[in-house]
Amino acid sequence: MTLSNDRSDKFLTTCLFCRREFNEILMKCPVCGGPLEIIWLNPKFKVCKSKANIWRYETLLPTFSRVVTHSEGLTPISRIHNVLIKNERYNPTGTYSDRASALIASYIASSNIKRLRIKFTEDFTYSLSYYLNGIAEVDVEVCDNDFYSDELGKLIELGVNLIPSKRTSNNSNALELDYLNPLTIEGLKTIVFEIYEKRIKCEDIVVPAVTGLLTYSLWKGIKELKESGLDVNYNVVSALIKGQSRPKLIPNEVKVVEVGLKTILDVFTRLCRYGIKLKPISTLAYVVAEDLRNSIAVITAGYRPSTKRNVVKGGIKEGIINLLSRDDNLTAYEIWQKLKDFTLRGVYKALKSLELNGVVCSDFEVRNYRRVKRYRLCS
Ligand SMILES: [Zn+2]
Repeated sequence: MTLSNDRSDKFLTTCLFCRREFNEILMKCPVCGGPLEIIWLNPKFKVCKSKANIWRYETLLPTFSRVVTHSEGLTPISRIHNVLIKNERYNPTGTYSDRASALIASYIASSNIKRLRIKFTEDFTYSLSYYLNGIAEVDVEVCDNDFYSDELGKLIELGVNLIPSKRTSNNSNALELDYLNPLTIEGLKTIVFEIYEKRIKCEDIVVPAVTGLLTYSLWKGIKELKESGLDVNYNVVSALIKGQSRPKLIPNEVKVVEVGLKTILDVFTRLCRYGIKLKPISTLAYVVAEDLRNSIAVITAGYRPSTKRNVVKGGIKEGIINLLSRDDNLTAYEIWQKLKDFTLRGVYKALKSLELNGVVCSDFEVRNYRRVKRYRLCS
């Protein structure tokens, strides 16, 4: 299933295995079945500041007749203790997969694909199903091990069909899609663009390695910034659990740091006791970033529900939560106007704390060339 692209003169799709080139977006190599990536022939990095989502980097993203977005991207950069983190939890479904889903859903919505079939992949399947809700039918192939995942129930709520992974029937109307596809890479690379746009001063961008796809995508993003003529000195560092083999997707020039399981569990426990809930896999990147110092870790950090209940206590925060439970999407200024008993500075401080604790979420909107932050309760 293919879709020719308006700007196919500006990119090629290349197979990472056999290096064959194609002039259209394909989900996998039609010759060898290998993964594909999009190569920009004349890359130009330009930020479209009116867009408060990943489409602000449209000059280095494929163009589609219908663009799907749920305000993914522009995730906050903050600190956990001394470690600078880019917290991908603040994406619509709480993971960086949403960046990939925005592109894939736009591709599907712009084509005549009405049905697709994907293998269950934690986080990604949920994110993509969320984005495709109302756009296409989704069949999710489930295998025995997937039964341990809590996400299956959430998928049903999104109207997804769960089917056994055995390929008994071959539905020719359905597009078969893997997590590893050129649009996922294009979506994930926007993490680097955001770090660059904010001119974050650091050397290393640390990501956990599972399949190596996130590492590859960020490495590609840095390469494109350099090819755009920009002076960029970031390196991607891939954090791997000791004993695991280096994923083939990780480019040779990328540094890989191995961490023992004991260290990961110790740090995971230490952070949990502080009430900071990282995914265990995110802890891997956190440990390496803590060690490297001049770095930023790309992680998914949330907080335990018990911590949420604690922060709800206290006048100003309670006031904000009550207000946002009735009146959604307010700016800090609007909140302050409605809570006259507090100072504007106090409102900002409370909002920052509530946001870091995962109670309040925000979206950006552009008004008169200014980016306006609007707050709501996290769902
Ligand atoms: Zn190939």
